[in-house]
Amino acid sequence: MIHKQSRPEAGRNPEAVAMFRRSIDRMAPYMPGEQPRAGERLIKLNTNENPYPPSPKVRRAVRSSARDSLRLYPAPRADQFVAAASHAYRLPSAMILAGNGSDELLAMLFRAALGRGDKVAYPVPTYSLYDTLAEVQEARAVRIAFGAGFALPLERLARARAHLTIVCNPNSPSGSFTPVAKLADLARALDGRLLVIDEAYVDFAADNALRILRRHPNLVILRTLSKSFSLAGMRLGLCFAHPRVIEALLKVKDSYNLNRVSLAAGAAALDDIAWMRRNVERVKSTRARAIARLRRLGFEVAPSESNFVLARIPGRDLAPVARLLRKSGILVRHFATPMLRDALRIAIGTPVEMRTLYRALAPLAASNTPRPRIRR
Ligand code: PMP
Repeated sequence: MIHKQSRPEAGRNPEAVAMFRRSIDRMAPYMPGEQPRAGERLIKLNTNENPYPPSPKVRRAVRSSARDSLRLYPAPRADQFVAAASHAYRLPSAMILAGNGSDELLAMLFRAALGRGDKVAYPVPTYSLYDTLAEVQEARAVRIAFGAGFALPLERLARARAHLTIVCNPNSPSGSFTPVAKLADLARALDGRLLVIDEAYVDFAADNALRILRRHPNLVILRTLSKSFSLAGMRLGLCFAHPRVIEALLKVKDSYNLNRVSLAAGAAALDDIAWMRRNVERVKSTRARAIARLRRLGFEVAPSESNFVLARIPGRDLAPVARLLRKSGILVRHFATPMLRDALRIAIGTPVEMRTLYRALAPLAASNTPRPRIRR
């Protein structure tokens, strides 16, 4: 018998066959930041990419991998890339899983850990993809506000006893950093429940959680090559966790989730950590100057351990400022949510790009554009 499910709100015909799950029909899609069209020249400070190119070793590896072997499927467990990660991060291969960007690794974690009604907890504001992935799973998102100065709400996160807890560290969009000792406390307090530390931006910070991984079998650390390694276009992510966690994630992984060209690029990038570190240092020195400069322009800017800053004019909706910057060819990120409406997240570009930004921003920050009251 053909089973028909009525879905009156989806269309005109109440007898229409349900094409998708109700939750998928209802949810809003994740909104990635604007990506310029081919040939469009913009100063791109909206999706936290690296303004400097990847290592020349990557270019060479890409060129030599694009050959006859592309006929063949790639290694299902990304052997070449995982071996390079094992060497670079001093972890056994059994504790490493490669993903098509860390977004794919997050999706695998949600898929493996969360069924309908299960809880996933994270401090907010944070990376909004977590909300989207929770909706896809029909999981219950427990969104707990950061404390003053973006302090981790440790007790409340522990008390939520969620199947999956996520801390983005450094956090986006705040750029704030939770000390690793606090993350270890949270891992312990969660008593065997999974704790994911999303370290997408950690190479721009002074510390990271890798050294506490072996002590906590419930800990998962996510890294990406999109930011510090300048490889957003390659889609390369890494998951570090205990072998038991990796084995569970392998069950929900697409067989060939990384292609041969990216595997070669990823291995080459990890072989040239010095190149990445040089670029990170350049970004960090531009970041220090950006914070000082934006403060002089009248913004409140929190300290950042990342490759972006959150610049705020309390109480003023900055959507018009983002729109005007866009008109002068500069992309920054504005989030139209009650918590973030009065802020812009600005990625750190080259010094020349940043000077162009300050020039464009000066009249806008000072202007008396209407200041609609914002409810927080
Ligand atoms: N985590 C955070 C906090 C991010 O900002 C991003 C980038 N949007 C990612 C993960 C995903 O990075 P990617 O998929 O490029 O590795």
